[in-house]
Amino acid sequence: MFDVAEDCLAVGGVRLDRLADRVGTTPFFAYDRRLITARVAYLRSVLPKDVKLSYAIKANPMPAVVQHLAGLVDSFDVASAFEMKTALDTVVPSSSISFAGPGKTAIELAQAVAAGVTIEMESESEASRIIEAGNRLGIRPRVALRVNPNFQVKGSGMKMGGGPQQFGVDAEEVPSLLEKLASADLDFLGFHVFAGSQNLHSDILCEALSRNVELLLDLSGKYGHSVRYLNLGGGFGIPYFEKDRSLDLVPVGKRLTELVENTIRPLLPGAKIVIELGRYLVGESGVYVTRVVDRKVSRGRVYLVVDGGLHHQLAASGNFGQVIRRNYPIVIGNKMNSIEREIVSVVGCLCTPLDLLGDNVSLPPADVGDLVVVFQAGAYGLTASPTAFLGHPMPPEVLV
Ligand SMILES: *Cc1c(COP(=O)(O)O)cnc(C)c1O
Repeated sequence: MFDVAEDCLAVGGVRLDRLADRVGTTPFFAYDRRLITARVAYLRSVLPKDVKLSYAIKANPMPAVVQHLAGLVDSFDVASAFEMKTALDTVVPSSSISFAGPGKTAIELAQAVAAGVTIEMESESEASRIIEAGNRLGIRPRVALRVNPNFQVKGSGMKMGGGPQQFGVDAEEVPSLLEKLASADLDFLGFHVFAGSQNLHSDILCEALSRNVELLLDLSGKYGHSVRYLNLGGGFGIPYFEKDRSLDLVPVGKRLTELVENTIRPLLPGAKIVIELGRYLVGESGVYVTRVVDRKVSRGRVYLVVDGGLHHQLAASGNFGQVIRRNYPIVIGNKMNSIEREIVSVVGCLCTPLDLLGDNVSLPPADVGDLVVVFQAGAYGLTASPTAFLGHPMPPEVLV
């Protein structure tokens, strides 16, 4: 949780009004270093010691955040050549970087082979492009196979496995593909499965982990060689909306411990077992800070018009994959102790009705100059937003 200093929200121990002066402008994103550190420590305390923790950089690729996490996690997952560059700039060794995602170009694949990262192959034709790149560069590519499971994970905000998918190789096709690749010049490490994201249900995550392990061990058995890498995915969610309950990680940790000790280790004593997380590591550590530019009343409704909007924080406007628009948690950052309340709509500065950050929210009465803060902005914020829309400047990001 963020600190409150007197009446003001604080990030990394710095009051937001002071931080706004330090940054020199609003709007901006601020990430709390201590909250990220605490989150990783909590995960380590719950997950089995034998499991490696990977950070999926696409959740928040700010270089300072990635550098900070480099000292905390075991590995990075990247989804583009640019993210790979950010990861390679850290102390994390290239052998602990995995590159997943559909549509990797021949150039990106060659970059990945040259870097020595593990490429998570998403299709047979991608495998052939990797082999080509390896031959051309005279380097044996390190690869794993991303598997599209033959089941779906319910309760995920985003489904990325089961049924037809652009992600991974269908589980039933995996044995024949591995047979075809047996003579190829590839250093085959093992398997990856990532079937869904933003899941808040520990029972469903436990079930998904069990089924993922069962599937990957079955494929390992059919492969017949010693598999050295099992990436079990993640999908741990964070609460965005009023009705959301935080994920109870304890049963997930327990199940994973059982699976590792009783199921995986007897068959694969030396394999690297990985859990790969994005938003769970960083999402709750970030705020998007805007300033009220105008306060107006239209036919009885109070509008706070702020200097930010969906061009920076698309998800909070409800336009990033939500079916029904709901409000992200929002506060007046410099009036944290006020008990007075009014119902207002917080809108951004873009000329579109889509630019809504808070619809009929109960907030302390605010005026021009006050700071409106949107929580849960540490993941899929700035880089998941249409920043060029309307041509406003890019907001700064700070890690405090
Ligand atoms: C996006 C992604 C993640 C991270 O998802 P979160 O919901 O942020 O945890 C992990 N692995 C892969 C392969 C991804 O594409």
